[in-house]
Amino acid sequence: MSPRSGDKKSTMPINTEIFSARLRSKSIDPAEQRLLITRFSGSRQEQDLSEPPNCAGYGRIRHFHRSGTAGWPENPLPMDPAFHKLGLARENAMRVQVFQNASCNWRCWYCYVPFELLDADLKHSSWMSASDLLDLYAREQNAPQVIDLWWSARFNTRMGTVDDARASKAPIGLKGLSLV
Ligand code: SF4
Repeated sequence: MSPRSGDKKSTMPINTEIFSARLRSKSIDPAEQRLLITRFSGSRQEQDLSEPPNCAGYGRIRHFHRSGTAGWPENPLPMDPAFHKLGLARENAMRVQVFQNASCNWRCWYCYVPFELLDADLKHSSWMSASDLLDLYAREQNAPQVIDLWWSARFNTRMGTVDDARASKAPIGLKGLSLV
């Protein structure tokens, strides 16, 4: 994936504190324990996906591979820790279920996420609790065994607990539930 055309470019510096506070208020709902989650269906990011979005359009599959470019060493992350913690057999590739939060307080030039998916815009997202996400996941026929919650930048928040995942029927690794 690579930076894309069509994003609004700006040379203005971001006031991170102000921008973060605004996006945090638009994308985190502590009272209801919900986050604004990206809907990939119909988005420009959907065009980059190697598999169609799943989980009613709110999920995507990420593929990790142990071997990369020729001449470079193997990359065991995040596979080996996940296999170990989840009691799974070691393999050379891993499919991971990704849910993506719908805001980020930075605008990196190399970002592969279209900037309209980082603006906490309800046209491209919906409010979801951890239970909502796990319900979508549980309904998938060919769901990966690991969930990767993909958080952008630093929002200093917490949503759900690992117990939410343990209560579900499949072995799940939760990465990023607690952010610091
Ligand atoms: S922090 Fe990550 S999600 Fe945010 S703009 Fe940079 S690359 Fe994109």
